[in-house]
Amino acid sequence: MKVKKTIKTKIMHLTKIKQRLLKEEYYNLQRFLHGESVKLYSANKQQAKRFYKKIKPDKEYPISVRKDLLKVERRRDTKIAKYWARIPVAGRRGGVWVAVKPHCPIELDMEICESKLFKRNGEFYLHITVQKEVEVPKPELAEKTTVVIACDIGEANPLVSVELWDQGKKRKNAQFLGGEMRSVRAHYNHLKKRIGRKKIKHAINWIKEHVANKETRKVNDILHKATTKIVDRALMLKRSGYEPVIVFGDLKNVRQPRVKGKRRCRKTNRKIHTMPSYKIKQMLTYKALWEEVPVIALNEAYTSKLCWRCRSLNTEIRKRCFRCKDCGLEYNRDLNGAINIGNRLLGYMLKSRAAVNTPKTSPEYTALLEKRFDNVSEREGGSPLQQLGVVHPVSWIIT
Ligand SMILES: [Zn+2]
Repeated sequence: MKVKKTIKTKIMHLTKIKQRLLKEEYYNLQRFLHGESVKLYSANKQQAKRFYKKIKPDKEYPISVRKDLLKVERRRDTKIAKYWARIPVAGRRGGVWVAVKPHCPIELDMEICESKLFKRNGEFYLHITVQKEVEVPKPELAEKTTVVIACDIGEANPLVSVELWDQGKKRKNAQFLGGEMRSVRAHYNHLKKRIGRKKIKHAINWIKEHVANKETRKVNDILHKATTKIVDRALMLKRSGYEPVIVFGDLKNVRQPRVKGKRRCRKTNRKIHTMPSYKIKQMLTYKALWEEVPVIALNEAYTSKLCWRCRSLNTEIRKRCFRCKDCGLEYNRDLNGAINIGNRLLGYMLKSRAAVNTPKTSPEYTALLEKRFDNVSEREGGSPLQQLGVVHPVSWIIT
């Protein structure tokens, strides 16, 4: 299976000539997209035609660098920078070599894919997409060594994880991650509301420039840290001889009201509609697969209502607290959900006795997925999850 990830790099120490060449190429692309005829590197022109169909008037678009034209090298003979990238531009044969500073080390066995050159606040950034072949083991149920790391994705606690050991007999290491996200989002929502009320155009522009980006960056940072923590733990278990499986609930119909006909209040609605659950799933999936840890998306219907101890549905949820009316269990509601998700996966694994193959999607669900990810699939050849080869477990293959 091939897994992709994007390495963000900043272009450093540009000489005046190189800066001019990059700037020219970048601004010529913007002019080209608005219908002017300019001097532009032919492949960059082709890429622009391929990717940018609708052009907004006041937006700048990155240069998409074709994979066979971009070259990344690690140089030991210079002290300026470790990594160098070659970017094709018009007016210089063979492109320009620039020093880049990546956010994580670039291994040389990675295959380089289409990458993007941005300009932000006067600086250039190169986002290099890399791909590598990974071998993800099929999750198999072994009595002692299988550890299921179950994750519940929610609003109050963005990511709750718990480890199930000994086929679900022991629960260990419950973690509540990303809790800071709630206050960050509440803070920026409050700011946006307060400034937006003034209805001044420059205030709105100011929000767009400062507040929106800052909020996204802060939230992404929190989510990256939370998901990395889970994958790191899985990696640690793997190195000590265990077989970790990460499983998360695949939220579906979260936007529909729980009780038919009942409406949510505006505040709750806003919170639920802007929840970054998709981001969390993406991050967990690519990070786990990158480290060759199996990851499974599981239908999480009823996992929040079910009591994990006695499997009763006769339960109630009051704010963050879960209470079972049959056995009297009082528990954290998100943790209860996470345990149920883990138990459900264990149930599937027990049923099939041997390996749980990557679950195949049923035709109806595929149709639904395609409908939902229509725009995405046109642009990038399949939704990101599909590209990663993660399909949704509706029916299971027994091997
Ligand atoms: Zn119970």
